[in-house]
Amino acid sequence: MNKKLDVLIIGAGPTGLTLALALSRYGLSFRIVERASGPSVVSKAIGIQARSLELFARLGVAEDLMENAIKINQGNLYVNGAWQAKLDFTDLNTPFPFVTLLPQSETERILEARLATYGHIVERDTELTGFAQFPTFVTATLQHKGETETVDASFIIGADGANSFVRRELGLPFSGKSFKESWALADIEVDWPLSSEEVHIFFSDHGVIESFPLQSNLFRITGNLTSGPVPTDHKAIDDFLQNRAKVPFELKKVHWYSMFRVHNRIIEKFGHHRIYLIGDAAHINSPVGGQGMNTGIADAMNLAWKLWCVHQFKASFPLLDSYSVERREAAQGILRSTNLATELLQINIPFLLPLQEKVIRNSLKIAPLHHFVTNRIAQLNSHYPASLTFVTQGHFSPLTPKPGEPMPYSEVVHPRTKKNELLLRRADRNFLLLLFLPKNATDDLLEPFKELAYTYPDLFETVPIHQSLKEDGVVDQGGELARRFGIKQSGLYLIRPDGYIAYRQQGLKSKSFARYVERLLYAR
Ligand SMILES: Cc1cc2nc3c(=O)[nH]c(=O)nc-3n(C[C@H](O)[C@H](O)[C@H](O)COP(=O)(O)OP(=O)(O)OC[C@H]3O[C@@H](n4cnc5c(N)ncnc54)[C@H](O)[C@@H]3O)c2cc1C
Repeated sequence: MNKKLDVLIIGAGPTGLTLALALSRYGLSFRIVERASGPSVVSKAIGIQARSLELFARLGVAEDLMENAIKINQGNLYVNGAWQAKLDFTDLNTPFPFVTLLPQSETERILEARLATYGHIVERDTELTGFAQFPTFVTATLQHKGETETVDASFIIGADGANSFVRRELGLPFSGKSFKESWALADIEVDWPLSSEEVHIFFSDHGVIESFPLQSNLFRITGNLTSGPVPTDHKAIDDFLQNRAKVPFELKKVHWYSMFRVHNRIIEKFGHHRIYLIGDAAHINSPVGGQGMNTGIADAMNLAWKLWCVHQFKASFPLLDSYSVERREAAQGILRSTNLATELLQINIPFLLPLQEKVIRNSLKIAPLHHFVTNRIAQLNSHYPASLTFVTQGHFSPLTPKPGEPMPYSEVVHPRTKKNELLLRRADRNFLLLLFLPKNATDDLLEPFKELAYTYPDLFETVPIHQSLKEDGVVDQGGELARRFGIKQSGLYLIRPDGYIAYRQQGLKSKSFARYVERLLYAR
């Protein structure tokens, strides 16, 4: 009889690998199987957004990714070759105020290498060909080089991409639309007077073209195919660029080119009892704005800690159901904005170009709009709908960070080094319990919270936040953090392992907090 696994992950794209990496830090037993026989060599997604880097920092791979990547601080928008406006990412409120460009094949290589350090390998040449769901487990059929294996697992996670076998077997409609226009894509070497550390987006009467630096003079270009032949050789790609960018350049070499259709599709529910879908298996959107892979990474991080709570604390299924509710809402929002951005990029009505030019030139000068757009691209302003898992107790100003929103970038002073440290780094796999202590707080105030930590071992990392320097905890100099979080005299914030605020409270009432934890884990 085969031993039951906790989790069987299908697919070793960026989302499957992120989930595997997150689970390996929680000590769950899992396998990750991949149909392809070798690592992917296709660069597909090249944009890693700030929010994903925050999540990757929790997995300890952000540095490795950045070391190999190009950091983009700014994007430029042109109309018929004339510069109009810029998108500036430097004032994003995150430790990573930029867009990171790295070919997807490299991102996958780095995630897989880190996974190997935890003793887990991707099982290649291994395809899921069937499964059956029972009340307490799922049985999967795997094919490996002509051999059939049956595996029992508590959960199957379909990270098997846009053509997901898991989704099809479950009979889930992938609702949405496919755009009529196709897009061309090419990696080219080009000499031009434009910065190779910035993104350039050109609008023209022939259509749009976007350019992203990959290496010093190697660029990824994508553009919508309006009319005329598909650019498939050096000359055609030269013309394609000439007609749209309208800046002086010399095309040196075409490394590869491709064409793709744009789709916007999503499933109704991301989870079905013991089977969950993450990444492109659950939603696909236009690559405009570089969101697809990043949305899948956030799915994986949302689901990972919930699976851990079920495994470690025997949490009940409504917690897992919240994965579907939260991530569907987030993915739907991303689908809406990438759809709008794609429609706008594809307008391409020559007599409307002067109007488009005006809108581009002036709209990004409006600071709140610019802030909204850059935060949206960085996925920093995505928040989850109100639910039983997000709770506020006591009165807080509406301007303070709320449950359901990502924890804002916050630094505190380390008691020993006296240096500023990033608060989220204090807990990289479990919940973070921030206890804002009153002036002259005594130790007995912390006792009930310590007891709770014994009841749920490892569930949270408690961080007492003092108003002045103490032996333990950290210091909130000048009460800046407490003010920002809307804490009056004392209070607490609970941050989830995926960086979202779960709960907050004015005052330090351990019983109310304990009731919240109980409900979060064991709601029926
Ligand atoms: C041209 C292009 C440009 C893009 N640019 C961006 C960008 O800049 N930023 C961005 O965020 N996103 C971008 N995307 C989207 C991004 O590539 C996808 O969102 C991402 O690959 C999804 O990752 P995934 O792990 O969910 O699925 P995939 O990467 O598709 O991985 C799924 C894996 O599952 C395996 N598999 C399938 N079926 C089975 C089975 N039955 N058994 C075992 N294994 C199986 C497959 O072999 C595959 O390796 C782009 C996409 C394209 C096509």
